[in-house]
Amino acid sequence: MLLYQIYVGLHKFENAVVEVKNAVKMRKIQMVDLGSQYEKIKDEINASVQNVIDSTAFINGTEVKLFQEALEKYLDVKNVIPCANGTDALQVSMMALDLKPGDEVITTSFTFIATAEVIALLKLTPVLVDVEPDTFNIDPKAIEKAITPKTKAIVPVHLFGQCADMDAINEIAEKHNLYIIEDACQAIGAEYIFKNGTKKKAGTIGNLGCVSFFPSKNLGCYGDGGAVFTNDDELAKKLRSIVNHGMTVRYYHDVVGVNSRLDSIQAAVLRVKLKYLDDYAKARIAAANYYDKTFANNPKLKIPVRFKNSTHVFHQYTLITKDIDRAKLQEYLQSKEIPAMIYYPVPLHFQKAYNDPRYKKGDFPVTEELSKRVISLPMHTELDNEQLEYITNNVLDFINKN
Ligand SMILES: *Cc1c(COP(=O)(O)O)cnc(C)c1O
Repeated sequence: MLLYQIYVGLHKFENAVVEVKNAVKMRKIQMVDLGSQYEKIKDEINASVQNVIDSTAFINGTEVKLFQEALEKYLDVKNVIPCANGTDALQVSMMALDLKPGDEVITTSFTFIATAEVIALLKLTPVLVDVEPDTFNIDPKAIEKAITPKTKAIVPVHLFGQCADMDAINEIAEKHNLYIIEDACQAIGAEYIFKNGTKKKAGTIGNLGCVSFFPSKNLGCYGDGGAVFTNDDELAKKLRSIVNHGMTVRYYHDVVGVNSRLDSIQAAVLRVKLKYLDDYAKARIAAANYYDKTFANNPKLKIPVRFKNSTHVFHQYTLITKDIDRAKLQEYLQSKEIPAMIYYPVPLHFQKAYNDPRYKKGDFPVTEELSKRVISLPMHTELDNEQLEYITNNVLDFINKN
C-alpha cells in the first residue's frame, strides 16, 4: 500500500514536472508575435535593409519604386502611391479629391479613430452611420439614409480583415455620384467577390484605397508606413505630387501638399514580407479556424461571421460575448498570460474629441452593443497548436466556471 502511494505520488510529481516544463517551453503568447515572424526571414530582411544602408538612398530610393511595382502587381491595380502611414493615406486621398470644408463624408461609428480624424482635420464633416451586427462593417442601408446634398464621399472600413458590402456601396455611390475611399488598413490581401463573380483586392475597388504598414498590420514594416491605391491615373499623379509637397517639377509647387513618404528601409522590409503575405493570411485563417471549431456551438460566444462576398484575412479574431462579464474574462486570460484586447471599447460618437451635438446615446445601437461585448483573441502568423489549445482551454475554463 505504502509503495503504491509512493508510486502514485511520484507519478503525480512527474506529471507536474512535465506540466511546468511545457509551460516553460511554450512561447510567450502575444497579440502579435513580430519577433518569431522575423526569425524565419531574418537573413532576407537583414540583407535587404543592409542593401539600403550601403546605397545611402534613404528617401525615395530604388527600394521604394521596386516595392511599389511589386505591390501594384500583387494587387492588380494601376497605381500604388507609397506614403508615411495609413492615416496620411486617408488624408492625402481626401485632399486629392478636392473635398472642401463643409463637405460631408460618411463613415462608420465602429472603427479606429484615424478614419474620422482626417475628415475632421480637413474641416470636412464626418457623418457617422451604424454597422451590421454580424460583419461589424458599415451598413449600406444606413449610408443611404445619411446622404444629403452635401455628401461627397463614403469611407467604408474593411474592419478586422474582411471587406464591407462593396456591391451595395458601389451602387449607392453611383446613384448619388459619390466618391468611395476604402479604408483597407486592416484588410490588405483580402479579396472581394462581386455578385457577377469578378474579384478585386481590398483597396482597389473604390476611387481610392488606403492601407497602413504599421508593424502589427497584416503587411507590417518595422516602423510607420502606408499607401494609397488607385486605378485612376490622373488621381495618382495628383497624389504623387501631394505626398511630395505638392511638387511635380522640383521646387515648383502647384498644389498645397504634405511631406508623407515611405522610407527606403521600410520599403526594403515590405518588399521581402510581401512575398509571404498570402502565406501569412493562410496562417491567420488556420488560427481562426481553430478558434471557430472550438467556440462554434458555445452559447456564450459568437464566432466571427464570414461574409460570403469577401475572403477574411483575420487582422483580428473578434468574438461577441453573451451573458458573461467581459472584463473578468479579459482579466482571467491576463492572469494566464494570455493577452486579449477590446477593439473598440468606445464608439466614435462617444469620443471626447468627437463629442458632437448631432449625436447622442442610442443613435448607433449596433456599434454601442458591440463596443460592450466584443473581445479579440491573440491573432498573428506564428500561433501554433499548443498555444491555440492553451488559449481556447482557458477561455472555455472561464466560461464553464462563470
Ligand atoms: C491602423 C489603421 C489606420 C491608421 O494607420 P496608421 O498607419 O497607424 O496611421 C486607419 N484606419 C484603420 C481602420 C486602421 O486599422
